[in-house]
Amino acid sequence: MTATVIDGKAFAATVREKVAAHVTMLKSEHGITPGLAVVLVGEDPASQVYVRSKGKQTVEVGMESFEFKRDDDITEKELLALIDQLNNDPKVHGILVQLPLPAHLDSDLVINSIDPAKDVDGFHISNVGLLGTGQKSMVPCTPLGCLMMLRDHHGSLSGLNAVVVGRSNIVGKPMAQLLLGDSCTVTIAHSRTKDLAEVVRRADIVVAAVGRPEMVIGDWIKPGATVVDVGINRIEKPEGGTRLVGDADYASCAAVAGAITPVPGGVGPMTIACLLANTITACCRANGLPEPEGLTA
Ligand code: NDP
Repeated sequence: MTATVIDGKAFAATVREKVAAHVTMLKSEHGITPGLAVVLVGEDPASQVYVRSKGKQTVEVGMESFEFKRDDDITEKELLALIDQLNNDPKVHGILVQLPLPAHLDSDLVINSIDPAKDVDGFHISNVGLLGTGQKSMVPCTPLGCLMMLRDHHGSLSGLNAVVVGRSNIVGKPMAQLLLGDSCTVTIAHSRTKDLAEVVRRADIVVAAVGRPEMVIGDWIKPGATVVDVGINRIEKPEGGTRLVGDADYASCAAVAGAITPVPGGVGPMTIACLLANTITACCRANGLPEPEGLTA
């Protein structure tokens, strides 16, 4: 079997189109321009690339982008004051603090100071609790993107066996909650899981979020299963230079799976698209307006 390739790049473009259409409607019918504020502390090169890309895509869909760059010697008090200002700014519907923060700042404290209604990353403890109890919440962008692609590919996910490899707060755990919410039978695997290969072989859906290049191999995949590869790893090429690979070994998995997300071009592009989707959702909720269909869990 050769797997169907789930094209995250194309899917993300359709999500952005839906977001842009909704922004146009909010502007023309309600005089509202959705706004996203991104806070970047320090000079981490990867974070700078992400923040630039987020700002560019925010503007492209017609929303307002507010960027706050601060030196890495900012005090916690100063950062909390900035977040308080954004919490109270009616032009700002979504707030994202780019992680990781420098070590002297308490990330949990900072994230939990964001107004949960504006927490478009879905990391605030209130949103984590709402998601865990099946209530309306802001949903973390990467797992939301995975869920959208899975729903699109499978239709109903009800009753499917899903194995999420990885239990981080930003990917693994919320992914498992979302799959449970769609009535999958969910197993969460991690570094202490015994006989991971056997666990993964039971899965109709495998989500690989481990941060280990090409760890999940085709031999572990049940024929016809769907593989969602969240991993982004840069590895050295034998001939020199580097290339991006996922947490699944694409060639061997694609030979067995029914469907697979590639790296790059799979989950990655969906993450920022879902950030924009979450900003629209937050804006609609803040203004008591109906949320757009298909842009949230
Ligand atoms: P973390 O490092 O926070 O978590 C990794 C998880 O994998 C942990 O739960 C860990 O288990 C588990 N793990 C590590 N080694 C093994 C192993 N040998 N067997 C089984 N489980 C293992 O990573 P993240 O969740 O933040 O990210 C995961 C991947 O997704 C990374 O490649 C990251 O770059 C990528 N990513 C991609 C995004 C995108 O937009 N596409 C967004 C966010 C992340 P334990 O808890 O026991 O240590």
